[in-house]
Amino acid sequence: MRIGAIEAGGTKFICGVGNEQGEILERISFPTEAPETTLEQAVTFFRDKGVEAIGIGSFGPIDLDRSSPAYGRVTTTPKPGWAGFDFVGYMKRFFPVPVGFDTDVNAAVFGEAKWGAAQGLDSCVYYTIGTGVGVGVYAEGKLVHGLVHPEGGHVLTRRHPEDPFKGVCPFHGDCLEGMASGPAIEKRWGVKGSELPDDHQAWEMEAFYLAQALSGVILLLSPKKVILGGGVMHQKQLFPLVRKLVARNLNGYVVAPDILDEMDNYIVPPGLGDNAGLCGALALGIEAAK
Ligand code: ADP
Ligand code: ZN
Repeated sequence: MRIGAIEAGGTKFICGVGNEQGEILERISFPTEAPETTLEQAVTFFRDKGVEAIGIGSFGPIDLDRSSPAYGRVTTTPKPGWAGFDFVGYMKRFFPVPVGFDTDVNAAVFGEAKWGAAQGLDSCVYYTIGTGVGVGVYAEGKLVHGLVHPEGGHVLTRRHPEDPFKGVCPFHGDCLEGMASGPAIEKRWGVKGSELPDDHQAWEMEAFYLAQALSGVILLLSPKKVILGGGVMHQKQLFPLVRKLVARNLNGYVVAPDILDEMDNYIVPPGLGDNAGLCGALALGIEAAK
């Protein structure tokens, strides 16, 4: 079976065709512009591929409530043309096949649970630390949606004692995304994160904020794996810093060998690397086809 996959990001779209083994056979990428302009390219790519289902992992917020008249739509984004856009409806008009639809981070966590770092586990969380911060949640063998969908990138933070930075979140200022996203790092230090040296103070501070969020999610959901992806996590020195601070925050309270002795295998990069989102969309497509 050939399945279409769309990783719909706020800055770029990646479309792929894959199979049930999680292999991506073909892919294409283009910038995210107005919805029709962008999706026309997706439609052209999929047109002769004979896909039997399509999975979409989308930037948000999106409507995932199947009983809602707005199911399948992007809801309140400031991205020009996208607010209220019927993403699923548009694709179904061209491809009358089952369409799976979820957040980009739920797609990524699903892909990781199926084929990546959390393979075989029935729970894990996936954080992306990029232009924004997002969290996908997989618990008891299912993706978690709740009332709308988890938005763990916007939890409030306790400030680092040496950090006067106000934060970049237009809604909350110093929430996690406001303090720890790529744009937050760039604004705080005046250069892109990729240009800061490995031993710069920025990384200790970044780890301080990430470790707070992770400690909270570990206490709240008790996930069996915590996966950290996104552009900022290309800074590999963050992993040991985050693990150390999570252990310090939890302070021996959560009694589990994964946390007390095996932290290196507990807080990890995506097993699928930068393919987590696209493979996740593929997994959503496979699920929709069932
Ligand atoms: P997006 O979130 O738009 O899908 P990314 O996950 O690549 O894309 O995140 C982009 C953000 O990550 C930018 O703010 C960029 O500055 C930052 N970033 C990308 N690569 C690195 C790197 N190697 N080190 C630090 N920050 C990075
Ligand atoms: Zn926020």
